[in-house]
Amino acid sequence: MLTLENLETWLTLFDEKIHQHRDYLSELDTAIGDGDHGNNMVRGTEAVMAALQEKQPETVADMLKLVAMSLIGKVGGASGPLYGTAFLEMAKIANSTDNLAELLQAGLEGIQKRGKAVPQDKTMVDVWFPVVEAAKADALTEQTIWDAAEATKPLVAKKGRASYLGERSAGHLDPGAVSSAYLFSALLEAGAV
Ligand code: ADP
Ligand code: MG
Ligand code: MG
Repeated sequence: MLTLENLETWLTLFDEKIHQHRDYLSELDTAIGDGDHGNNMVRGTEAVMAALQEKQPETVADMLKLVAMSLIGKVGGASGPLYGTAFLEMAKIANSTDNLAELLQAGLEGIQKRGKAVPQDKTMVDVWFPVVEAAKADALTEQTIWDAAEATKPLVAKKGRASYLGERSAGHLDPGAVSSAYLFSALLEAGAV
């Protein structure tokens, strides 16, 4: 169940993890992209934390919407609008459900509608998709999350910058899949699952 309290904890833990792993995320993106994913994500989560301090939203829907706007507004790369759309789609249904699986499903649909990626395209969708399935089955664990991120390694990228490399994108983890793994690891730690 997503509440105002565990949502705020989730976002705080996500911001911490992104800061801790900023260099690693950029290294992953250096191999198959343009090397900015760690910095893009830090800019995004810092903007989220600043907006929360300033506005102090009082409902889950308002908080999710503020997250979305901060990410869409402040992150230059492809990942900002994609994560932002996910939070925006969650915000849209948050007044009618607090069910985590339903909320994450809406987020995933937003990412796919915007970015047109399907599973196996070597994107963040490769983590979001199995996480949503596991959440629906009430079986989300760290193992599910990290296995999903790890599974992007052999794939050939079909979407985003990494797809410009064709076959040469194989053999590397997808940076957005790894940042999504931090997102869901933070969700577990926040106790929202
Ligand atoms: P940019 O590629 O613009 O520099 P980032 O480096 O911040 O942006 O983000 C790259 C990540 O975005 C990729 O690793 C991938 O997970 C994700 N991504 C890129 N394009 C798509 C897409 N069309 N659908 C889903 N995820 C995508
Ligand atoms: Mg990049
Ligand atoms: Mg970039």
